[in-house]
Amino acid sequence: MLIDNHHRVINYVRLAVTDRCNLRCTYCMPEKMQFLEREALLSYEEILRFMRVLTGAGVSKVRITGGEPFLRKDLLYLLEELVKISGVSITTNGVLTAPYIPQLKALGIQQVNLSLDTLQAPKFFRITRRDQFSAVQQTLHRLLEHDIPVKLNMVVMDGVNTDELTDFAALTRDHPLSVRFIEEMPFNGQGKGFSGINWHYKRILDTIRVAYPLEKLTDAPNSTSLNYSIPGHAGSIGVIPAYSRTFCGSCNRIRVTPTGNLKTCLYGKDVMNVRDLMRQNVTDEELLQHLQAALYQRFADGFAAAADRQAPAESMSVIGG
Ligand code: SAM
Ligand code: SF4
Repeated sequence: MLIDNHHRVINYVRLAVTDRCNLRCTYCMPEKMQFLEREALLSYEEILRFMRVLTGAGVSKVRITGGEPFLRKDLLYLLEELVKISGVSITTNGVLTAPYIPQLKALGIQQVNLSLDTLQAPKFFRITRRDQFSAVQQTLHRLLEHDIPVKLNMVVMDGVNTDELTDFAALTRDHPLSVRFIEEMPFNGQGKGFSGINWHYKRILDTIRVAYPLEKLTDAPNSTSLNYSIPGHAGSIGVIPAYSRTFCGSCNRIRVTPTGNLKTCLYGKDVMNVRDLMRQNVTDEELLQHLQAALYQRFADGFAAAADRQAPAESMSVIGG
C-alpha cells in the first residue's frame, strides 16, 4: 500500500496525457500557449508501466485528463490497456468526445467528467475563446443516452457565470447527472497574481438554496465534493471547495503531468519525475521506492504546499485539474 507521512492511503492517480487543448478557457490558459514537444510526453508504454507499478501498490483508479485527452493520438488504445488493470475515468471538455462514447461505454469507463461553465452559446465563446458549444452539448446528450455516469463540472467565476448557478442546478431535475460547482483556482498559466475568490463554496450553496431546498447526501470516502440532492430531482449537485481546500485531510490522490512530473499536492511543486527515472532504466522496485520516499515528504494540506513555492505560473492543463 502507498501511505504518506500523514497516514493517508493513496489509491487514486490523475494522469494528464497531454497539455494541448482545443479550447482556451480563460481561467486555465492564455490564448497563446507554448505546448510541449511529443518526445517530452510520457509514452503509452511508460504510462502503462507506471500504472502497473501503482496498481501493484494498491492504486485502483486512474483519471485520464489533460489538456484535452481526446487530442492525444490513439487515446482509445491507452484506455483499452488501462481498463485491464484499473478503474478508469475521464475528464474532457467534450469537443471531440461524442463519436467515442459507444466505445467508452463498451470499455466500461466508470465515469466521464464533462466541463461546461455556461449554458449560453455566446458566453461559452467568451469563456473558452472557441465556438464549440454545440459539440459539447452533443457530448452531454450522448453520454446520458449511453447511461455513462456523468459529472458536469462548472468553474464558478465571479460576474461571469454566477447568474447561472440555479440554471445548472435545474439540469438535475430530469437528468441523472451530478452537477459540480468548482471554486476557481490560481492556475491560469499566466502567473498572474490571484488574490482569492468571491464565490466561496458556502456562498454558492446559499445562492442555490434560494431557489431549491438542498438535502445533504452522504459523501463517498475521499470525496472532494460536498453533495446534495434536490427533492424530486433525478440528479444531484455538489460543491468542490478547491480553493478553500477543506478536503486535504482525506486526500487519496497523486497527479502525474504529461511529462511525468509527480505532484503529491495540486497546490505543490513537482516532487519527482517518473519519465526520467524510467528512461534511466530504474527497476519497478526502485521506481516504487522513489514514489514512497516522495509520499513521505508530503505536506499536510494545500496551504502548506502552496507556502513552499512561488505563485504558480502553470496552466491547469499540465496539472489536469
Ligand atoms: N480539458 C479537459 C476539461 O476541460 O475537462 C480536462 C483538463 S481540465 C484542466 C480539468 C478540469 O480542470 C476542468 O473541469 C476545468 O474546468 C478545471 N480547471 C481548469 N482550470 C481551472 C482553474 N483555474 N480553477 C478551477 N478549475 C479549473
Ligand atoms: Fe482546455 Fe480543459 Fe483548460 Fe479549458 S480547462 S483550456 S478545456 S484544458
